[in-house]
Amino acid sequence: MPYMYKYRILLLGDSGVGKSCALLLSRYKRNEFNPESLTTIGLDFCTGSLEVDGKLIGAHFWDTAGQERFRTVTTAYYRGAAGALLVYDITKRDSYNSATQRWLEELREYKDNIDIMLVGNKTDLEYLRAVPTGEAKAFAAEHGLLFRETSAKDASNVQLAFQNLLTDIYHSFS
Ligand code: GDP
Ligand code: MG
Repeated sequence: MPYMYKYRILLLGDSGVGKSCALLLSRYKRNEFNPESLTTIGLDFCTGSLEVDGKLIGAHFWDTAGQERFRTVTTAYYRGAAGALLVYDITKRDSYNSATQRWLEELREYKDNIDIMLVGNKTDLEYLRAVPTGEAKAFAAEHGLLFRETSAKDASNVQLAFQNLLTDIYHSFS
Protein backbone atom coordinates (compact mmCIF):
# COMPACT_ATOMS: atom_id res chain seq x y z
CA MET A 1 0.00 0.00 0.00
CA PRO A 2 1.51 3.36 -0.99
CA TYR A 3 1.90 6.00 1.68
CA MET A 4 0.23 9.35 1.35
CA TYR A 5 3.08 10.96 3.22
CA LYS A 6 6.59 9.98 4.15
CA TYR A 7 8.59 11.87 6.73
CA ARG A 8 12.20 11.77 7.75
CA ILE A 9 12.77 11.61 11.47
CA LEU A 10 16.17 11.98 13.10
CA LEU A 11 17.50 10.40 16.25
CA LEU A 12 19.92 12.66 18.07
CA GLY A 13 21.65 12.52 21.42
CA ASP A 14 24.89 11.43 23.03
CA SER A 15 26.36 8.02 22.41
CA GLY A 16 24.99 5.37 24.80
CA VAL A 17 21.60 6.93 25.55
CA GLY A 18 19.72 4.16 23.73
CA LYS A 19 18.89 5.57 20.29
CA SER A 20 19.73 2.43 18.34
CA CYS A 21 17.95 0.19 20.84
CA ALA A 22 14.78 2.25 20.63
CA LEU A 23 14.87 2.06 16.87
CA LEU A 24 15.47 -1.69 16.82
CA LEU A 25 12.71 -2.18 19.30
CA SER A 26 10.17 -0.28 17.29
CA ARG A 27 11.20 -2.24 14.23
CA TYR A 28 10.56 -5.54 15.95
CA LYS A 29 7.32 -4.28 17.36
CA ARG A 30 5.98 -3.10 14.08
CA ASN A 31 7.29 -6.09 12.21
CA GLU A 32 7.26 -4.11 9.02
CA PHE A 33 10.46 -2.13 9.19
CA ASN A 34 13.22 -2.90 6.74
CA PRO A 35 16.59 -1.73 7.91
CA GLU A 36 18.85 -0.44 5.19
CA SER A 37 22.35 0.81 5.54
CA LEU A 38 23.80 4.02 4.26
CA THR A 39 27.26 2.86 5.21
CA THR A 40 29.02 5.24 2.85
CA ILE A 41 28.11 8.23 4.98
CA GLY A 42 27.95 6.37 8.28
CA LEU A 43 24.22 6.58 8.81
CA ASP A 44 21.58 3.92 9.29
CA PHE A 45 17.93 4.27 8.70
CA CYS A 46 14.80 2.21 9.08
CA THR A 47 11.54 2.66 7.28
CA GLY A 48 8.14 1.92 8.66
CA SER A 49 4.62 3.11 8.84
CA LEU A 50 2.11 4.09 11.45
CA GLU A 51 -1.54 4.92 11.31
CA VAL A 52 -2.45 8.51 12.11
CA ASP A 53 -6.06 9.69 11.89
CA GLY A 54 -6.89 6.56 9.92
CA LYS A 55 -4.17 7.24 7.34
CA LEU A 56 -1.01 5.26 6.76
CA ILE A 57 1.96 7.51 7.37
CA GLY A 58 5.40 6.43 6.25
CA ALA A 59 8.49 7.28 8.23
CA HIS A 60 12.20 7.07 7.68
CA PHE A 61 13.98 6.95 11.02
CA TRP A 62 17.59 8.01 10.71
CA ASP A 63 20.16 6.89 13.22
CA THR A 64 23.59 8.48 13.49
CA ALA A 65 25.16 5.03 13.86
CA GLY A 66 27.86 6.21 16.23
CA GLN A 67 28.82 9.33 14.29
CA GLU A 68 27.71 11.45 17.27
CA ARG A 69 30.78 10.27 19.19
CA PHE A 70 33.02 12.32 16.93
CA ARG A 71 30.83 15.40 17.21
CA THR A 72 30.66 15.60 13.44
CA VAL A 73 27.17 14.68 12.39
CA THR A 74 27.03 15.37 8.67
CA THR A 75 24.79 18.17 7.44
CA ALA A 76 23.23 15.65 5.04
CA TYR A 77 21.66 14.14 8.12
CA TYR A 78 19.59 17.24 8.84
CA ARG A 79 18.49 17.97 5.29
CA GLY A 80 14.82 17.34 4.63
CA ALA A 81 14.02 16.21 8.17
CA ALA A 82 10.44 16.68 9.37
CA GLY A 83 11.02 15.68 12.96
CA ALA A 84 13.58 14.66 15.53
CA LEU A 85 13.83 12.62 18.69
CA LEU A 86 16.27 14.28 21.07
CA VAL A 87 17.27 11.44 23.36
CA TYR A 88 19.02 11.49 26.74
CA ASP A 89 19.57 8.94 29.50
CA ILE A 90 17.61 9.81 32.68
CA THR A 91 20.52 8.46 34.76
CA LYS A 92 23.10 10.72 33.08
CA ARG A 93 22.85 14.46 33.72
CA ASP A 94 25.52 15.11 31.05
CA SER A 95 23.39 13.49 28.38
CA TYR A 96 20.45 15.71 29.36
CA ASN A 97 22.58 18.86 29.25
CA SER A 98 23.87 17.83 25.89
CA ALA A 99 20.41 17.05 24.47
CA THR A 100 18.94 20.34 25.66
CA GLN A 101 21.93 22.46 24.65
CA ARG A 102 24.28 21.08 22.05
CA TRP A 103 21.87 18.85 20.11
CA LEU A 104 18.95 21.23 20.27
CA GLU A 105 21.09 24.16 19.11
CA GLU A 106 22.64 22.17 16.29
CA LEU A 107 19.22 20.97 15.18
CA ARG A 108 17.76 24.46 15.17
CA GLU A 109 20.78 25.79 13.31
CA TYR A 110 20.10 23.45 10.40
CA LYS A 111 16.32 23.21 10.60
CA ASP A 112 14.23 25.82 12.33
CA ASN A 113 10.80 24.46 11.54
CA ILE A 114 10.90 20.92 12.77
CA ASP A 115 8.85 18.92 15.26
CA ILE A 116 11.01 17.82 18.15
CA MET A 117 10.40 15.37 20.95
CA LEU A 118 12.65 15.36 24.00
CA VAL A 119 12.95 11.73 25.15
CA GLY A 120 14.25 10.64 28.55
CA ASN A 121 15.21 6.99 28.08
CA LYS A 122 16.09 4.20 30.57
CA THR A 123 13.18 4.65 32.98
CA ASP A 124 13.74 1.05 34.06
CA LEU A 125 16.75 2.48 35.95
CA GLU A 126 14.54 4.71 38.13
CA TYR A 127 16.73 4.13 41.20
CA LEU A 128 19.65 5.77 39.34
CA ARG A 129 17.64 8.73 38.07
CA ALA A 130 19.64 11.97 37.81
CA VAL A 131 17.17 14.11 35.83
CA PRO A 132 13.76 14.76 37.46
CA THR A 133 10.78 14.28 35.15
CA GLY A 134 9.37 17.69 36.10
CA GLU A 135 12.54 19.50 35.09
CA ALA A 136 12.63 17.95 31.61
CA LYS A 137 8.91 18.43 31.15
CA ALA A 138 9.17 22.12 32.05
CA PHE A 139 12.12 22.59 29.69
CA ALA A 140 10.18 20.92 26.88
CA ALA A 141 7.10 23.06 27.46
CA GLU A 142 9.18 26.23 27.55
CA HIS A 143 10.91 25.38 24.27
CA GLY A 144 7.94 24.01 22.36
CA LEU A 145 9.08 20.39 22.38
CA LEU A 146 7.03 17.26 22.92
CA PHE A 147 8.20 15.16 25.85
CA ARG A 148 8.14 11.47 26.82
CA GLU A 149 10.05 9.17 29.10
CA THR A 150 10.75 5.70 27.75
CA SER A 151 12.57 2.47 28.36
CA ALA A 152 13.97 0.66 25.36
CA LYS A 153 14.79 -2.17 27.74
CA ASP A 154 11.30 -2.97 28.98
CA ALA A 155 9.68 -1.42 25.87
CA SER A 156 7.61 1.10 27.77
CA ASN A 157 6.40 4.15 25.86
CA VAL A 158 8.76 3.67 22.91
CA GLN A 159 6.05 2.97 20.39
CA LEU A 160 3.95 5.71 21.92
CA ALA A 161 6.75 8.24 21.54
CA PHE A 162 7.15 7.46 17.84
CA GLN A 163 3.39 7.60 17.36
CA ASN A 164 3.06 10.94 19.18
CA LEU A 165 5.79 12.56 17.15
CA LEU A 166 4.45 11.31 13.83
CA THR A 167 0.96 12.48 14.72
CA ASP A 168 2.32 15.92 15.56
CA ILE A 169 4.28 16.08 12.30
CA TYR A 170 1.30 14.95 10.29
CA HIS A 171 -0.87 17.62 11.86
CA SER A 172 1.65 20.37 11.32
CA PHE A 173 1.98 19.48 7.65
CA SER A 174 -1.73 19.14 6.92
P1 GDP B 1 23.08 4.79 21.26
O1 GDP B 1 24.56 4.99 21.31
O2 GDP B 1 22.35 6.03 21.67
O3 GDP B 1 22.59 4.25 19.96
O4 GDP B 1 22.73 3.73 22.40
P2 GDP B 1 22.42 2.18 22.25
O5 GDP B 1 21.07 1.98 21.73
O6 GDP B 1 23.54 1.54 21.51
O7 GDP B 1 22.41 1.74 23.77
C1 GDP B 1 23.55 1.96 24.60
C2 GDP B 1 23.51 1.01 25.80
O8 GDP B 1 22.39 1.32 26.63
C3 GDP B 1 23.35 -0.46 25.41
O9 GDP B 1 24.12 -1.23 26.29
C4 GDP B 1 21.87 -0.73 25.62
O10 GDP B 1 21.61 -2.05 25.93
C5 GDP B 1 21.55 0.18 26.80
N1 GDP B 1 20.16 0.65 26.81
C6 GDP B 1 19.48 1.23 25.79
N2 GDP B 1 18.24 1.57 26.17
C7 GDP B 1 18.13 1.20 27.47
C8 GDP B 1 17.07 1.28 28.44
O11 GDP B 1 15.96 1.78 28.21
N3 GDP B 1 17.36 0.81 29.70
C9 GDP B 1 18.56 0.27 30.03
N4 GDP B 1 18.73 -0.18 31.27
N5 GDP B 1 19.57 0.16 29.13
C10 GDP B 1 19.36 0.63 27.88
MG1 MG C 1 23.64 3.98 18.21
